[in-house]
Amino acid sequence: MRKKLKTSSTGRKCMFPDCTNHLSIYNHEEYCHIHRDQVSDSQKIKPAYHHVI
Ligand SMILES: [Zn+2]
Repeated sequence: MRKKLKTSSTGRKCMFPDCTNHLSIYNHEEYCHIHRDQVSDSQKIKPAYHHVI
């Protein structure tokens, strides 16, 4: 039995502006590992904190 790994097309680059990092075919994200964290972090919807009295 052979498992077929799902791979993305080669030659993709990170979607982050000015980033020239190539994405691995095993990386199905739009961003490289560096910017993936940054983007997900900044796009996180931060819950509004309310001070409970
Ligand atoms: Zn990047």
